[in-house]
Amino acid sequence: MTPYDNANGKPAKPADQQDTAARPTREEAEAAVETLLRWMGESPAREGLADTPARVVRAWEEFCSGYGEDPAALLSSTFDEVEGYDDMVMLRSIRMESHCEHHLVPILGTAHIAYLPDRRVVGISKLARVLDSFARRLQTQETLTAQVADCIQTALQPRGVAVLIDAQHQCMTTRGVHKPDVSMVTTRFTGAFQDDQDLRNRFLDQARHL
Ligand SMILES: [Zn+2]
Repeated sequence: MTPYDNANGKPAKPADQQDTAARPTREEAEAAVETLLRWMGESPAREGLADTPARVVRAWEEFCSGYGEDPAALLSSTFDEVEGYDDMVMLRSIRMESHCEHHLVPILGTAHIAYLPDRRVVGISKLARVLDSFARRLQTQETLTAQVADCIQTALQPRGVAVLIDAQHQCMTTRGVHKPDVSMVTTRFTGAFQDDQDLRNRFLDQARHL
């Protein structure tokens, strides 16, 4: 088992931030989890916890598998035979799972993503995969929302992109202020969605009426 065997076989940091010499090994990561268990007052040697450090490290490998991916590459294959279709394309109510970079606890919610095609459209699952690729990193909801919209705008060059994320932060629902029913809504609009209030309202209406 090498230190870099992420699910996708790539280093866990973005390509422009790779510093492989400084990256701890899997064994060091597991030792850190064991330290945390002892700090909690636990006995890492007891039966129920024996494999926990290895499981936690594998879980975080999955939670953060987006670091090894290039979300823009997911949008590289497009279709242009859509009979001149030029109205909004919207993927609604996409389950979103991420982790907050301040507390390392889940951010769980729903994303709505729309774009206004300029001749080309992408396969319907690709928008959800772009979301996942950014969500499987440590995030703030604001950053995630902006990254998804800007990636689609840059890679696909549509006439506009709209992203709305509605999510609950477990750092707020299960600790701290303990407000379980609060969700946070963030939006990012580019191009026509910024300039055309009617278009923006159609997106917001469709996001609301589930
Ligand atoms: Zn947090």
